[in-house]
Amino acid sequence: MPALGQDEVKIGTLAYRGLDQTLERWAPTAAYLSEMLPDKVFRIVPMYYPELNEAIARGSVDFVLTNTAHYVKMESQHGLTRVLTMIAKEQGTPVRDFGGVIFTRSERTDLASITDLRGHSFAAVGEGSLGGFIVAWEILRAHGIDPARDLRELRFTGMPHDQVVEAVLDGSSDAGTVRTGILETLISEGRIDAGDLRILNARTTPGFPLLHSTNLYPEWPFSRMPDTPDELVEAVTIALLTMPEAHPAAEAGGYLAWSPPANYRPVHELFRSLGIAPFDDRQVFSLAAVWRNNPAAIAAVLLGLLLLSGMASAKFMNMNVSLRREVSERRRVERLLRENQEQLTRQATHDSLTGLQNRPALQQHLERAIVSARQARERLAVLFLDLDRFKNINDSLGHPFGDLVLRAIGERLRDRHGHGETVGRLGGDEFLIVLEDLPENPIAHVTAHAESLLESIAEPFQGERLRDLYVGASIGISLFPEDGTDGAALIKNADAAMYQAKAKGRNTFCFYTQALTKAAKSRLTVESHLRRALENEEFEVFYQPQVGVESGAIVGVEALVRWRDPDHGMVLPGRFIPIAEDTGLITSIGEWVLGRAARQVRAWQSAGLPPLRLTVNLSPRQFLQPNLVQSIRDGLAQAGLDPRWVELEITETALMQQGSDAPATLRQLKDAGVRLAIDDFGTGYSSLSYLKRFPLDTLKIDRCFIRDVPNDSSDVEITTTIIAMARSLHLKVVAEGVENRAQLAFLRLQGCDVYQGFLFGPGLPAADLESLLKSGQRLASNPGTRRLQPVAERG
Ligand code: C2E
Ligand code: MG
Ligand code: MG
Repeated sequence: MPALGQDEVKIGTLAYRGLDQTLERWAPTAAYLSEMLPDKVFRIVPMYYPELNEAIARGSVDFVLTNTAHYVKMESQHGLTRVLTMIAKEQGTPVRDFGGVIFTRSERTDLASITDLRGHSFAAVGEGSLGGFIVAWEILRAHGIDPARDLRELRFTGMPHDQVVEAVLDGSSDAGTVRTGILETLISEGRIDAGDLRILNARTTPGFPLLHSTNLYPEWPFSRMPDTPDELVEAVTIALLTMPEAHPAAEAGGYLAWSPPANYRPVHELFRSLGIAPFDDRQVFSLAAVWRNNPAAIAAVLLGLLLLSGMASAKFMNMNVSLRREVSERRRVERLLRENQEQLTRQATHDSLTGLQNRPALQQHLERAIVSARQARERLAVLFLDLDRFKNINDSLGHPFGDLVLRAIGERLRDRHGHGETVGRLGGDEFLIVLEDLPENPIAHVTAHAESLLESIAEPFQGERLRDLYVGASIGISLFPEDGTDGAALIKNADAAMYQAKAKGRNTFCFYTQALTKAAKSRLTVESHLRRALENEEFEVFYQPQVGVESGAIVGVEALVRWRDPDHGMVLPGRFIPIAEDTGLITSIGEWVLGRAARQVRAWQSAGLPPLRLTVNLSPRQFLQPNLVQSIRDGLAQAGLDPRWVELEITETALMQQGSDAPATLRQLKDAGVRLAIDDFGTGYSSLSYLKRFPLDTLKIDRCFIRDVPNDSSDVEITTTIIAMARSLHLKVVAEGVENRAQLAFLRLQGCDVYQGFLFGPGLPAADLESLLKSGQRLASNPGTRRLQPVAERG
């Protein structure tokens, strides 16, 4: 008979407002857990930092609910392990990350970028707050500003974050930082006006709906103590993961749902790089520490401040009417001066002919962009654009006409320029374009950009005088960091590349790194060859076995497309599928693959081989096709394959893309009789509330999680959670990329259903797979050897 207390499960919960408020916020979550696990009673124990630290050290709680920064400390000191990450909701989108926003008052035109904050006053909630200070500290430091040394004043307002906003709005601090989402909330509640504030270093991140100034880090974790029993952890994890959408517990807790745990290593690295305990022996940046070390000096400074403020208030009281008038006059003069200053600044930073930024302004912008790119670990591109044969225009039609042309081109560049793009004129017929916020693999993006610049320059001009004029341009491209790490080097190398482009016959572009030019051109070639490949049937389907973890038998095959290019031999999908996506050719390729593979599987069935399930990939673009369902029905009917043998693989990204009514499309596909799988699971936003509304059958764990099991503890945990979660949702689980026996043994232990990978075998041509199936059949009919053995083990 267990003692009464044994059934109680304690969730130590950080209180950063009042204890009562904390209890109110989280008690419904505990009640939900008690309801889901009837033999346990869950209790929220709200505590402030010192008590919570002590409870964790003593081991008197079973689970811990605390903020990200605190968790990371407790993780390294007391072996806490995260089991889930909170999914918050911002602007209707589920988000697992947060960061900080650095802002100032709109009229502070002198504070244009982070670098300008040097010597100014700055407000934040508290030195230990990740979103409320530490992430901003990282960015300030990346801009060469040490908050302890280079700010005029660093003021910690304490919670809530609203106090920081107030300090900036009432002018007592020049700028400040708050966690992402706070400004939007205050605006939507009508407590501040969007026009009052301006965000510095405003950035966007795909999938994250808010502007932010800093890097993003994972949201609050839900974590376990080292001694909490595994079965309890698993049951709690599953209960939270499967919490129904819009459950009152989530509403009260202010979250949307829970997801498999995110990787918190970036937070460790952040702490380490800033020297925050417990990741560094260096002194933590702390006013308390300064006080401890220099009490006498600090006391003197405080005394001084006290005296000064006393003098100031005495002066205030004597302020009479005439003084007030004087003040208002002074304000007026200041405003005029400021306007004048702004005009001067504009003249100094803009080119008078085109109104675009001039060379010094561009250089300055580029240096700033480099700082941001460096700290965000992003690339940026510099495009040096020079008009072709402009000298001829000037010489034959005169300088005023040349100016007209330059102005028209400048207008075109300005009108078309988009987000993350800065355009300016260096002088003469030379323009410079800086591209920021590039995607991870930027070549395709930059190439497309250069092409569209060339196209828009070549467009015919409107208006009487320019009508018959044709202008071309050559573009040279350099990339940060590979082609230069400062502005001057990037411009110089882009210039050199521009000469290459001229030498190639003009009206074209070149990258500074020749290999990149080649890659870009080869992309254009691939595109034209792809069209030919479809007509000439140069594609082929390979079949990768999917194997039952317990039975060891082949239960299905995944169709993987290959392209036998007459010039380049076998091409893997990674090289051409993205291009086929961009150009829309993927629809035809996808239809071809489905038809081809369905006929093959049907042929194997007719030949009396054991029945196989056919898995086919659907790309995001295909998923948006209005006639998708009909084309799949038709394809299968023509091949004579019963849809119940077919499973379609769709990625999370495809399901969540704009413009798709995923639930409806999936429903229609299910009605057509096929099965549905989520491919590459775990690499997108694996929000359970999303998955649950979809009629899915199978979940494929991405191979990046499988690669390091069973050695990497965080991958082990994630994989375990995903499998447990899938089981609770009655989904079949397939593990991809299984390359060795240790991985397979681990998957068997976790109860994974099916695996696929080089351990059993890679994708094979139809004939080879057929032989394998036949030998498997012989093995099976031979008593004693029921299992197909793995064909090869690759390191
Ligand atoms: P995927 O759907 O995740 O397919 C699995 C990929 O992992 C295949 O690469 C496969 O060869 C590879 N793979 C299998 N086992 C292992 C292993 O043990 N270790 C490692 N390192 N890799 C393994 P592949 O054939 O190059 O395909 C890459 C991606 O291209 C596929 O990823 C899929 O997204 C896409 N794809 C392939 N065929 C098609 C198709 O017909 N249509 C569409 N839309 N996409 C396709
Ligand atoms: Mg796949
Ligand atoms: Mg996959």
